[in-house]
Amino acid sequence: MQHSTSSALVVSGWHRMSYSFNDNTLISQHLQSLIRKLHAFVGNAVTQDRYIVFGAGSTQVLSAAAYALSLANSSSSHSPTRVVASVPYYVLYKQQVEYFNSEKFKYEGDAHTWRNRSESDASTNVIEFVTSPNNPDGLLNKAVLHGPNAKTIYDRAYYWPHFTPIPAPADEDLMVFTLSKLTGHAGSRFGWAVVKDETVFNKMVLHMQVNSIGVSKDTQLRAFKLLKAILEEGTQIFDFAYQTMKSKWERLATTLSLSNRFSLQKINPQYCFFYNKVRESSPAYAWVKCEKEEDKGCYAVLKAATIIGRKGNVFGSEDNYVRLSLVRSQDDLDILIQRLQKLVSEEDGAISM
Ligand code: PMP
Repeated sequence: MQHSTSSALVVSGWHRMSYSFNDNTLISQHLQSLIRKLHAFVGNAVTQDRYIVFGAGSTQVLSAAAYALSLANSSSSHSPTRVVASVPYYVLYKQQVEYFNSEKFKYEGDAHTWRNRSESDASTNVIEFVTSPNNPDGLLNKAVLHGPNAKTIYDRAYYWPHFTPIPAPADEDLMVFTLSKLTGHAGSRFGWAVVKDETVFNKMVLHMQVNSIGVSKDTQLRAFKLLKAILEEGTQIFDFAYQTMKSKWERLATTLSLSNRFSLQKINPQYCFFYNKVRESSPAYAWVKCEKEEDKGCYAVLKAATIIGRKGNVFGSEDNYVRLSLVRSQDDLDILIQRLQKLVSEEDGAISM
């Protein structure tokens, strides 16, 4: 809102009608170079000598990545590629594998269960989705599975200074980002992958062609305009977003610190090379645990207090966990805090201020 003119977009009715750009690709080179500049400015990903591919949100990019990696060495194996993620995981990976129902993949649940087995069972491909910072708990996860047949897709949706310290530029083989969690423009549906290997990149480009003939040019133009406006203002949008998320997290943590019934995830502070200091995380979600045996149905406990979260089992976890979103409006946060304060004040033996 503070930069509504510089970030605004007007497009003539006749403009940008064809599928492709002048260079016959479906990917705007201008937008690509802005993305590289942005990563260099923030210091959250290495993009030099890397390929960049676009998708309709990171949702499409994630499925393209899985297809590209599953094809990579299908000749060495007749069994479907195992797709895994460590618990608690973002459920989309599982949903996509199960919905697309391809003979290439099988969702096999928690990555930890395969840690020792994958080494002995060397002929089967494994794709591990690593969400870092993780949705739901905000931890900077690392891959659990390694070895010649283990491929990793790093979902870096939340790897921006407003959510987490940036301890180093991410430098994995395949990293996925999204405008949704960078600027909040989830409805524009724009995501991208930074890819090391040319063959994998080509497979992802092919996937985008077959799946949707690339990303809407209107979307690419919108993303270009937004990223340009961001880069023109230095650290401003990150400072704004960091302060916003930090204040939300602190209010929530203070409220729950008075409780014996509910607890929050702990994330260790780390040195952040964007802010040049040791700092706390300011995550997008609260991963709330109901500590008491009688509150095992944590979702229902919160629901009774008119707080709607997401059940732990959606993330492959137990139902004494619930995820609460902090990436909603300020009004929503105010109401959430009010209702949690009320709930905590009604506890037996609640710690009073
Ligand atoms: N990855 C993670 C970890 C997410 O939390 C989300 C959105 N909730 C996505 C990917 C998908 O976002 P989009 O398709 O809007 O980029």
